[in-house]
Amino acid sequence: MSAGLIDGAALAREVYAALGDRLRALAGQGVTPGLVVVQIGEDPASNVYVRNKMRACEAAGLRSAVRQLPADCDEAEVLALVAGLNAEPATHGILVQLPLPAGLDAERITQAIDPAKDVDGFNWMNLGALVAGRARFEPCTPRGVMALLGRAGVPVEGSRAVILGRSNIVGKPLALMLVNRSATVTVCHTRTRDLERHTREADILVAAAGRAGLVTAAMVKRGATVIDVGINRDASGKLVGDVDFASVREVAGRITPVPGGVGPMTVAMLIENTVLAAERTAGVSGS
Ligand code: NAP
Repeated sequence: MSAGLIDGAALAREVYAALGDRLRALAGQGVTPGLVVVQIGEDPASNVYVRNKMRACEAAGLRSAVRQLPADCDEAEVLALVAGLNAEPATHGILVQLPLPAGLDAERITQAIDPAKDVDGFNWMNLGALVAGRARFEPCTPRGVMALLGRAGVPVEGSRAVILGRSNIVGKPLALMLVNRSATVTVCHTRTRDLERHTREADILVAAAGRAGLVTAAMVKRGATVIDVGINRDASGKLVGDVDFASVREVAGRITPVPGGVGPMTVAMLIENTVLAAERTAGVSGS
């Protein structure tokens, strides 16, 4: 039997619809949430991601802008731009589009963003708050995964969750979020021995490795929920995830597609975080 599809695009539309009342409350105070994306250089994939974020802001009724710097700019210029945005009252959310051109220190630049405007949730203050179970802004992709699980009705408490990938922006924060929701979590990476032994135990299997075809049907427990975070191009240039969708679909209970799974929810969480930032600044209580 084929797994049920978790439609990230449809769930993202529900997120946007649920923001309507919050945006109206802010408008009553004369506030429109504003997001600024700092883009350095002309990475083609980044151009697509930035365009998607701008479109989502526009569709949701947020203000948005891209501040571009050339690939050969120096770090002082970037830090000065971020400092200016930190001080700009109408800018509620700031993100620096990654990856950065060689020679720029992504860590130093993202840490320069005011934690109250850090809608990507990469600032150590926000990551630390997540560790303590008192998150202020959660990174958008893992937050999107949690929202997908919630909206698809997947039980998390008491479940066995296995994550493939331990990056600071996906795997590690997702592990914390799942632990905070009382799942029992295993985080796998390139040094993990006998990957399949771990993945076959998972009630919830999240693939965030950036390796096309990494997860095969033999690695999945029958009925498991499989969330595919990966974004890769196959030999023909087609967008694919980390999961061999056609075969895993026959074993899993629920599965996300690529595209149309985690991606749209990541953008929706960015919009939600920006609304949250504006609510905190305006003293309007959100959810
Ligand atoms: P990353 O920083 O490159 O981290 C990849 C992680 O996967 C690393 O921890 C790596 O282990 C692990 N890994 C790689 N190959 C593996 C293998 N064969 N077996 C087990 N673990 C393996 O990547 P990322 O930024 O977290 O992103 C991961 C993927 O998600 C990428 O495809 C990215 O494009 C995608 N992504 C999607 C969204 C979205 O909105 N859908 C958002 C962000 C990222 P080591 O630590 O040992 O190297």
